Amino acid sequence: MRLSRYFLPLLKEDPKEAQILSHRLMLRAGMIRQEAAGIYSWLPLGLRVLEEVERITAEELDKAGCVRLLMPTLQPTDLWKESGRYEALGKEMLRFNDRAERELLYSPTCEEMIVNIFRSNVTTYRQLPLNLYQIQWKFRDEVRPRFGVMRGREFLMKDGYSFHMNLEDARREYSAMYDAYHAIFSRLGLTAIAVAADSGAIGGSLSHEFQVLAETGESQVYYDAAFDEIRSGTRVMSGEEMRALYAAADEMHKPETCGLPVDRLRTARGIEVGHIFLLGRKYTDAMQVNVTDAQGKEIRVEMGTYGIGVSRLVGAIIEASHDANGIIWPESVAPFDVGVINLRSGDAACDAASERLTRTLEARGLRVLYDDTDQRGGAKFAGMDLIGLPWQAVVGPRGVAAGQVEVKYRRTGEKTELAEAEAVEMIARRTKEARR
Ligand code: ATP
Ligand code: MG
Repeated sequence: MRLSRYFLPLLKEDPKEAQILSHRLMLRAGMIRQEAAGIYSWLPLGLRVLEEVERITAEELDKAGCVRLLMPTLQPTDLWKESGRYEALGKEMLRFNDRAERELLYSPTCEEMIVNIFRSNVTTYRQLPLNLYQIQWKFRDEVRPRFGVMRGREFLMKDGYSFHMNLEDARREYSAMYDAYHAIFSRLGLTAIAVAADSGAIGGSLSHEFQVLAETGESQVYYDAAFDEIRSGTRVMSGEEMRALYAAADEMHKPETCGLPVDRLRTARGIEVGHIFLLGRKYTDAMQVNVTDAQGKEIRVEMGTYGIGVSRLVGAIIEASHDANGIIWPESVAPFDVGVINLRSGDAACDAASERLTRTLEARGLRVLYDDTDQRGGAKFAGMDLIGLPWQAVVGPRGVAAGQVEVKYRRTGEKTELAEAEAVEMIARRTKEARR
């Protein structure tokens, strides 16, 4: 992709309206644009990252046996009256009428609709267990939309719902989703701590929030100091071992009973990127959902529900991975793999070398953003650092004469002068290793 033909409106100055770093960087890097409070356009660069997060989320869920579908953003209100949530959601739910004066709402979550789809299609235990998910826009009229995509009003969510014959099976699926969530966040380059969370009114239920530690997080979490070692990479633990560690959301933390010595207890702010919930029969009771068992007897269905903040994750990844010069994308979600910088656009030799390098990289399956604009070198470097592509390859008159390009790895700043073929080889190999 030629930068001169792309759409990447970078901002030189920090936008005043942005209070936290990820929001500032997303605006400055031309990823998003605010259209109304908590409502954003995703510009081309931002959309590429959003789609990568979506892809990884879907890949891991598919691997775990979940089945993807897509429900509409607009729903009739009757199902919500049936479940009892029509009143409960209050002003957070956006409601309006169509031309025939039928009441509609913009979905803030989809339990009612999925339960309705389930009950009109599934009648026997043979079709269970079933785990259905979608990645779809949601609307919640948040009292205080803020921090850019972190707390939007319109936001992209992965919402999944599972159906079971009994509670044991629902628990087994809950545990499978717990593992799948760790796999997703780890592929996104994040260490998420699964904290025990309030499961609300339903007694005996289970709930975990997945929290990415960051000063700008809106949640307060309490956890075993071992998580800090895992985060810094000084300690490796299996999922099983991590599960045994203490971690609790604010409202669940009991200093007296947590069993951790004071010097092992840590507290920090967290960004909630996911939430899993053993629902039990809350909705299946309210909406009368049964299947028949092997003996033909009617059985009330048990459920689980599982959410991931897909658009929020883009901000969370930036909070976790940046430096003073801008974003540092993990390879797995980077909008492009390589930025090719032509230091003298218009110079025949530099143009030819840059174009050849771009073609060669692309032939290796790499996604290239080629800066062919006539800006000064300094501005090109600053822009590339800001948008955070994993690799930069610099073509200038001196290098062209010597038959070399300068390659920079954004995360460490390490620079190497290499012949074109070697440069391509190294970038291709290391990108492949990192992308999985
Ligand atoms: P929060 O406590 O942050 O409001 P929630 O408990 O209301 O979250 P859920 O209903 O569990 O959220 O939604 C699933 C996921 O969707 C959350 O874990 C979060 O990552 C994301 N999410 C929720 N609200 C928003 C929002 N306003 N903007 C962006 N992402 C959101
Ligand atoms: Mg909320």
